[in-house]
Amino acid sequence: MKLYEYEGKKIFSIVGIPIPKGQVVYSPVNVPGKVVVKAQLLEGGRGKRGLVRVTEDSFSTISDMMKEGISTFLIEEFVSHDREIYISAMMDRESGNPMIIISPNGGINIEESKDVRTFVIPLDRTLMRYDVDAMEKYVGYRGLTPIVQGLLKLLLEYDAELAEINPLAITERGALALDSKVILDDNALFRHEELLNELRREKPASDSYVELDGDIGIIGNGAGLTMATMDLVKLMGGNPADFFDVGGGADMQKVAFAIERVGTNPRVKKIVINIFGGITRCDEVAKGILDGHSKVNKPIYVRLTGTKEDEGKEILTKAGIKVYEDALSAIGDALR
Ligand code: GDP
Ligand code: MN
Repeated sequence: MKLYEYEGKKIFSIVGIPIPKGQVVYSPVNVPGKVVVKAQLLEGGRGKRGLVRVTEDSFSTISDMMKEGISTFLIEEFVSHDREIYISAMMDRESGNPMIIISPNGGINIEESKDVRTFVIPLDRTLMRYDVDAMEKYVGYRGLTPIVQGLLKLLLEYDAELAEINPLAITERGALALDSKVILDDNALFRHEELLNELRREKPASDSYVELDGDIGIIGNGAGLTMATMDLVKLMGGNPADFFDVGGGADMQKVAFAIERVGTNPRVKKIVINIFGGITRCDEVAKGILDGHSKVNKPIYVRLTGTKEDEGKEILTKAGIKVYEDALSAIGDALR
């Protein structure tokens, strides 16, 4: 099983391989300062495809990549470095011993590189100082011990078939793994169930945010309803600025977050909210709308129907927010 870069990096940090600070996101966010936005795809070659971008505007960079259909992003601190090393570990099929493959010139063109060398560490003994000495001498950098130890641990304790760092950047803070490629042996996955759960835990429920170029913000629950709302806005002569699908069973926090996300887009003049309550409860949605609307001071047009509809309507009406009976009239008023 091939792991995503961010999953591989989590294991790197568990085994003591230094990585840059970062966070995984599933929609555009604004991280101040210079950062690296990295599309999380299982294919390599992202650098050449423009899917690894250094930027001071993480929000727009992520919005752009989302238009290409990418949904998961790693945002990392920018680390300047003057050298990139290639290093990986895999089992030598012939001898059954672990081997370290290393090149002083790593980076995106490693396939063409001719200065790759292999160092075998016999399985019947531990890693010795002289093993690492030889590698360090070859690449001209002292300080590979934690990296080599971590990679071997990935092979021997985590059943990795391949653990690759390309590039390993040489920075003022020492060597940092800027990328990860980890393949776990499918036949051994049962031994690592806990780890796999841990890696996958953070993925949130299926919400999604997409930016367009009009001036109406749209929030719906479920892809079908959200798209239908967008189509209605267009049919009625409007132009959507962005949309947020809060997914199924959205709670108050999620709805408030959606309003903030949609509403902080400077192009958005008005926000249309179209919620059909099922598992999603209208009273929760109403509280979320109030909360979100208190932070984003733009006119909102709400259509809210389904489970706990009366409670939801009461909460909003009391706060002076009109609730429309159908999407047509809500959008009609928004476009007036
Ligand atoms: P790949 O092309 O899919 O293997 O993606 P990488 O993660 O290896 O990124 C491609 C290139 O972008 C690397 O070779 C680096 O030169 C550069 N890069 C990646 N991450 C960072 C980072 O955090 N900081 C800097 N300065 N450059 C990076
Ligand atoms: Mn790479």
